[in-house]
Amino acid sequence: MAKAEKRGAVLRGTSMVDSRRKIACAELDTDDPAGYQGLRNIAASIKDTVLADLPTYLETFANNAEAAGAKVHFASDAADARETIQDIIRSKGAKVIVKSKSMVSEEIDLNAALELDGYRVIETDLGEFILQLEHEHPSHIVLPAVHKPKVEVERMFNKLYKSPMGASADDLAQTARRVIRQDFLDAEVGISGGNFLVADTGSIVIVENEGNARLTTSLPKCHIAIVGIEKIIPSIDDLPVFLNLLSRSATGQRSTVFVSTITGPKTLDEPDGPDEMHIVLVDNRRSTILADEKLRPILRCIRCAACVNTCPVYQQIGGHAYGWVYTGPIGAILDPVLLGLEDAYHLPYASSLCGACTEVCPVKIPIDDILVEHRRRAVNASLTGPVEAMAMASFATVMVNHNLYEAATRLAAVMPSSNGRMSRLPLPVITDWQSSRDLPAMKGPRFRDIWKQRLASAGANNGS
Ligand code: SF4
Repeated sequence: MAKAEKRGAVLRGTSMVDSRRKIACAELDTDDPAGYQGLRNIAASIKDTVLADLPTYLETFANNAEAAGAKVHFASDAADARETIQDIIRSKGAKVIVKSKSMVSEEIDLNAALELDGYRVIETDLGEFILQLEHEHPSHIVLPAVHKPKVEVERMFNKLYKSPMGASADDLAQTARRVIRQDFLDAEVGISGGNFLVADTGSIVIVENEGNARLTTSLPKCHIAIVGIEKIIPSIDDLPVFLNLLSRSATGQRSTVFVSTITGPKTLDEPDGPDEMHIVLVDNRRSTILADEKLRPILRCIRCAACVNTCPVYQQIGGHAYGWVYTGPIGAILDPVLLGLEDAYHLPYASSLCGACTEVCPVKIPIDDILVEHRRRAVNASLTGPVEAMAMASFATVMVNHNLYEAATRLAAVMPSSNGRMSRLPLPVITDWQSSRDLPAMKGPRFRDIWKQRLASAGANNGS
């Protein structure tokens, strides 16, 4: 599949969802204190209240969840989380595991560990199911297979399941549903994520559109929910604020098709549901973010991907270019902490700092400020290298010196170009970046010259 087709799929998918988001958010009167902007303020403030006292809220959640019959586990890092889950599954003697969408499970690379142990792990979210067939990772936190053109899925389903070429999206979904149905019935363990942890009831809340999370959490005898510690909200009364913002921001819906609030395993008088429920609360460097005042707002994130869909950089390069689980603007601020700044300092540079992400974030995370903060820290730690430091120092010298700036703009105006592009700067090639990128050629007279001419002709007119 050509790169251009994938890029087209990303652009179409993200633009469509972004347009729906705009309509869904505009439906709420933005000036009303209880309207869209008001909800954003309330959500940000609730999240900040929780983050100011996270250990207490986590303890309250754990006590209430255990009172309802769940077992709560705290995992300090990815290895700890994997081992906790592996131990639970081993104790069940399971062979088949169904999974609904969970970015934290991607973050800790859970599937690879479980498959190494010999389990059959089946992703049941349609997008994740498609990616699993091709051993790919999600490229988007809400639309995992957004980079896949439909025809590619048709070809794959035709080869594997004899589904006809030209099948509609609904027919492809029906094929996947037929294939996965038996796995739901066979699975001994279901693994889910969780959108919210409700402290005062000990519940986890999952929002989805396909119903696969509901089956994953209710059909197998053992349910394991794996959730980041930052997903806490204080009370069930706060939930409507977040549901309203999450569904509108993520998919442009007033409400997702399914909202499941799960409080413990099934009780003796309930016919359906798992006998056992485990909740694995994952830290994995979130405490580092919590302790850092400048970065702490990152933990308000409700993973709606509105920032991803609106980002002009993501729309051009797609998610896999970010090289890890969280992509787009949220990835560019989160990955440098979760992976370490040394390994991901380049991600905050994948931004024009246009601020579109900050504008749409439903919990008002100052994403562009945090991008700049990461850049500052990367420079202070000398991670960006001597070439960039030299280039920036030269740029600064030119920008503050009138004569040098004049000379540079005159030089740029006469640089050789072809088809309206300057293939590269007239400098020795010292980085890959230089040899693989071009710039639009300068067109027409310089703004300074136009301005001088205008001043001169205005002066001449005044004088006459
Ligand atoms: S940073 Fe904001 S817009 Fe982006 S995923 Fe998180 S909550 Fe959504």
